[in-house]
Amino acid sequence: MRYAPTASPVLTLTTGPVDAYPAVLRGLATTVLYDYDPAFQATYQRVSEKLAGVVKAQTMPVILHGEPVLGLEAAAASLLGAGDVVLNLVSGVYSKGLEDWAKRSGAEIVELAVPYDRILDPADVARALEARPDVTVVSLCHHDTPSGTVNPVEAIGAVVRAHGALFLVDAVSSFGGMKVDAESSAIDLLVTGPNKCLGCPPGLSILGVSERAWAKMEANPTAPRGSILSILDWKEAWRADRPFPFTPSVAEVNGLEAAIDLYLAEGPENVWARHALTAKATRAGVTAMGLQLWAAEESFAAPTCTAVRTPAGIDEAALRAEARARYGVVFSSGRGETLGKLTRIGHMGPTAQPIHAVPALAALGGALSALGCRVDVGAGVAAALAAIDAG
Ligand SMILES: *Cc1c(COP(=O)(O)O)cnc(C)c1O
Repeated sequence: MRYAPTASPVLTLTTGPVDAYPAVLRGLATTVLYDYDPAFQATYQRVSEKLAGVVKAQTMPVILHGEPVLGLEAAAASLLGAGDVVLNLVSGVYSKGLEDWAKRSGAEIVELAVPYDRILDPADVARALEARPDVTVVSLCHHDTPSGTVNPVEAIGAVVRAHGALFLVDAVSSFGGMKVDAESSAIDLLVTGPNKCLGCPPGLSILGVSERAWAKMEANPTAPRGSILSILDWKEAWRADRPFPFTPSVAEVNGLEAAIDLYLAEGPENVWARHALTAKATRAGVTAMGLQLWAAEESFAAPTCTAVRTPAGIDEAALRAEARARYGVVFSSGRGETLGKLTRIGHMGPTAQPIHAVPALAALGGALSALGCRVDVGAGVAAALAAIDAG
């Protein structure tokens, strides 16, 4: 039996877009109100207040109305200017990608990079800042998704704070799936979105902004205004009595409220724990099958994504196509420099349930076997179940 490429898959175990929670889909299906209707304005303020409790920035969160690339580009454009020196911490495709947006602002870029299967060391960040005391902004991607590796954001945040630079963090694929917030990691501009671990469709960016970051954006003559890239324009939009700069994505905001309600009802710690256990079971299975994790050390493999090294002689695109055709299971590829070198199993939102490790491993192992690669699927599944039972 084969699943047609044009038919919906059985299981989407990707790293974004991810399957949405049923409650989020119901939220999206709520009647679309006029954005200036007081009922919607109240919803917008309520959603912003609920977000504030989890983003934990010094000021009210900003919602931008496009998937998180909008938030990242807007952050670079708003925060950075010609006088800035940015220390860009690179451990993967997304952190490297920030450089292009940062350059556009005229800022000087200083790079501290590690191979894409490793993570940044806070001591190296401290040394880089000692060497360049003129650094004004440090940028980091918390979980560089195309590598499935997690950087020590709290420890790096402490180093950045001690130096005095502002800390810009891409927390798109970590927020909601593991502990990260502006307060505990001293983040001045946290960029995330609901379309990864919160289990919403792609459509919004969420920003947590410190007082210092607002002051810097307000003083930046090149910070966008009257633009889809303007963060400043949306500063007061959370208040029900303030105008929106343009029409917000009403349905997406309703979906986001459903997602935050779920997140708070389950309890963030419980949500993080099931992401972590799903990843742990998957990693146990991957290694028991005889495969290798992409992360050079398991200690920094992500709880929201397991990246598996492509075995020698296997075409990674053919592997994913086989898993989809044979079992109806969809995985993510690598991106940029990691494309073709690894396959990613997402554990985000509704797919972050430990039992999903079992179909993921079965589909991955079965597809590899079909392509002539010897793997012990039974051992992988048994190891995953053992990890789940022990968890
Ligand atoms: C998903 C993601 C984004 C959003 O970017 P897309 O390429 O549009 O998916 C940004 N940063 C990280 C780390 C992400 O995982």
